[in-house]
Amino acid sequence: KSTETLLELRHLVKRYGGLLATDNLDLTVTRGEIHAIIGPNGAGKTTLIHQISGAIAPTSGSILFNGRDITGVSMHERVKLGLARSYQITNIFKEYSVLDNIALAVQARRGSSMRFWQQAVSDKALFDEARAIGGQVGLEARIDVIAGNLAHGEQRQLEVGLALATLPKLLLLDEPMAGMGPDESARLIPLIRNLRNEIGVVLIEHDMDAVFQLADRITVLVAGRVIATGTPDQIRNDPEVKKAYLGDE
Ligand code: ATP
Repeated sequence: KSTETLLELRHLVKRYGGLLATDNLDLTVTRGEIHAIIGPNGAGKTTLIHQISGAIAPTSGSILFNGRDITGVSMHERVKLGLARSYQITNIFKEYSVLDNIALAVQARRGSSMRFWQQAVSDKALFDEARAIGGQVGLEARIDVIAGNLAHGEQRQLEVGLALATLPKLLLLDEPMAGMGPDESARLIPLIRNLRNEIGVVLIEHDMDAVFQLADRITVLVAGRVIATGTPDQIRNDPEVKKAYLGDE
C-alpha cells in the first residue's frame, strides 16, 4: 500500500473571536487511505473541511496538497488540482437524468461551458465516462432515471458521482450517510471503500458503525484539537477517546 502524502495540514488555526474552531491542527492524509474525522458537535469538523476545500481561509497555518502549498488557492483551483468535495445534493439538476447529471459534471471538468451541452449530447466518450462513474457509485440500474425521482440515498450516491467526475485525487465526504436508512448506508459503504483504491478520502460522519467499518485511520477532534489519531482499533481502545467521546461503546 502506498504511503504517498496527499494532504498535509500544518498548525491550522481558525479563530472566531475568542473561540478556536480549529486549534493548531496537524493532519496528514495519504493516497489509498480513508481518513475519518470524528468528534462531538462543535468539535470543528465542518470548519476543518471548509478550510481544506477552500470555502473558508484559516487564520494561520498551512495546507499542502501533493506537496504544494494551497493555503491561498481558490476553491475552484483546488478542484482543478484534484481536491473534490461532495456537496449535499444541492449540485444535482433534479429535472435531468442521472446520466445527464454526471455527463454535465464530466463536461464541466473538460472545461467547456454549459452552452456546448447540445454538442456534447453526441459525444460518445463523454457518456461512456459518465456511465462508468454511475456504475462506480452503484447507480447503473438507475442511470436513466430523472434525478428528482431518486430516493434520498440514491441522490447521495449521485452526489459522490458528481464529485468523482472531477477526477479527484482526494475526495472530501461530508456526512455521506446523513438521512440514510440502514439499508441505504449498507449499500454506500462498499462503494466508498472501493474509492480508496486510487484516491484518498477524508470522511466526516456521525454514523460510528460506518466510520469503524470504513476508516483506515481515524482522527478524533475535541474543541478544535486533535486528541488522537490511529487505526480504528487504536481509537476504540484509546482511554482518552473513550473518556472524551465514545463513552463506553
Ligand atoms: P457538528 O458535528 O455539530 O456539525 P462540527 O464539529 O462540524 O459540529 P463546527 O461546525 O466546525 O463543528 O464548529 C466548531 C466551532 O466553531 C463551534 O463552536 C461553532 O459554534 C463555531 N463556529 C463555526 N462557524 C462559525 C462562525 N462562522 N462564526 C462563529 N463561530 C463559528
